[in-house]
Amino acid sequence: MAFYRVCPFCNKGSTILDYNIQHSGSLEFDEHSDSNSYRLNILSICCPTPECQKHEIFFRKFKYNKDKKQYELVYKLNIEPKANIKNFPDYVPKQILKDYEEAKLILDLSPKASATLSRRCLQGMIRDFWKVQKKTLHAEIDAIKDQMNDDDMYNAIMALKSIGNIGAHPEHDINLIIDVEPEEANELAGLIETLIEDWYIAREARKERINRINNISIQKQIVKNGTP
Ligand SMILES: [Zn+2]
Repeated sequence: MAFYRVCPFCNKGSTILDYNIQHSGSLEFDEHSDSNSYRLNILSICCPTPECQKHEIFFRKFKYNKDKKQYELVYKLNIEPKANIKNFPDYVPKQILKDYEEAKLILDLSPKASATLSRRCLQGMIRDFWKVQKKTLHAEIDAIKDQMNDDDMYNAIMALKSIGNIGAHPEHDINLIIDVEPEEANELAGLIETLIEDWYIAREARKERINRINNISIQKQIVKNGTP
């Protein structure tokens, strides 16, 4: 079975074929408390990109479904890399990458803390990339709204801020507990990835493109004038 995958080590997309995948043998056991059958195994996916070829490793637990008469995946743990953390270039500030990585690492353990870290990451990026600093994150997001010129993204960033607030500030009514689900925290960390790409990586690519054009122009001038 072939499927498309982006490698968490090199960030390159490729088609994974059967021979890129390896399974360990299964460890099987019956749980007496719930009279269910379980199966454990390790799976590795090797990146087909020649300069990478790193193995992503998962631990998986399956439970036997008596009605469907087949094993179904009930738990998956990333062993290497520990979380699906994207590798970003060095020109993205260290502190931002650190918060992002931590937000990814604690997704399942504490989605609320992860959301708070994504929020912190967002604030760090607005201050560093847009050079905007106000009393509140809300005011900072509003300050970049016109320059961003993307209403959908503005709304998504505001949502990230609000969900991140759940962990950052206690509600006025301390008995009111709002939870953040792991999938929601994962979406927020994913939005941070998009912002790093849209802001830092796009700016660098633009800079490189302009430099290349300017270099071509200089080369042409030299040829035209005949002097180095
Ligand atoms: Zn790779």
